[in-house]
Amino acid sequence: MKRFTCDELAEHLTAYLEDALDRPARDGVRAHLACCEGCERYFEQFRVTIGALGDPPPEKLPADVRARLLSAFRERRRL
Ligand SMILES: [Zn+2]
Repeated sequence: MKRFTCDELAEHLTAYLEDALDRPARDGVRAHLACCEGCERYFEQFRVTIGALGDPPPEKLPADVRARLLSAFRERRRL
């Protein structure tokens, strides 16, 4: 299983939500979310944002949405 730092997690989260990760990476994301409260909370925000895009959500995240989510994550890390 891969182990991610919080920063690496951010880079993988969009791919995770698009179901574009291989299995070890996906397990690594899950494991990180299970033990990191900050990222877990952020992940929930991700899901809400993506849920707002439609049902079912688009297969690929629009680039602007992805950029917004990633910059929100980096913002959080700076606090
Ligand atoms: Zn984390």
